[in-house]
Amino acid sequence: MEEDFDREIKVVVLGNGGVGKTSMIRRFCKGIFTDEYKKTIGVDFLEKAQFVDALQEEVRFMLWDTAGQEEFDAITRTYYRGAGSAVIAFSTTDLDSFKAVPSWKDKIIAECGDIAMCLVQNKVDLIDRAVVSGEDVEAMARQLGLKLYRTCVKENINVTEVFGYLAELHHKKL
Ligand code: GDP
Ligand code: MG
Repeated sequence: MEEDFDREIKVVVLGNGGVGKTSMIRRFCKGIFTDEYKKTIGVDFLEKAQFVDALQEEVRFMLWDTAGQEEFDAITRTYYRGAGSAVIAFSTTDLDSFKAVPSWKDKIIAECGDIAMCLVQNKVDLIDRAVVSGEDVEAMARQLGLKLYRTCVKENINVTEVFGYLAELHHKKL
């Protein structure tokens, strides 16, 4: 008999405020996108069961949001506890968010160790307003040893791929 959700993974979604973390979680878990920017949401996480091709298995993803506390460095231990993987996100139109990427990686390593991670450049629909070159982004990913995904949460480009990759990498690390 097959067991339901043998595989469960907690994913923490990190990055400066405004890069699209909440939008990404809502997009992946609920299939919706809104333009309004709400700084906080009332819940700690959303979950979604998704079939992952690379594993040929359904995985239950628990996606943890930061409730807009990024700039106060107030993200608590509870947030990181038990995380099996992490998204480090920045925005195409926000240079500070790009520069902050190494510190987010350091933070994850300090709290969770060497878990499955990847780098996400979101808002690629705004590439005309990019504040960082494609080469610089690729160099950053290489330097940090992270696979790079370019996403547009707004148009649902590459979002599912990010989480599929993290589930696969997490599985390999087990
Ligand atoms: P968070 O602070 O990192 O959680 O960011 P939010 O998810 O609240 O998003 C901040 C703003 O960016 C919102 O107005 C979103 O609608 C917008 N946003 C998120 N993803 C995209 C995207 O791919 N393209 C564009 N153009 N806007 C986006
Ligand atoms: Mg948010």
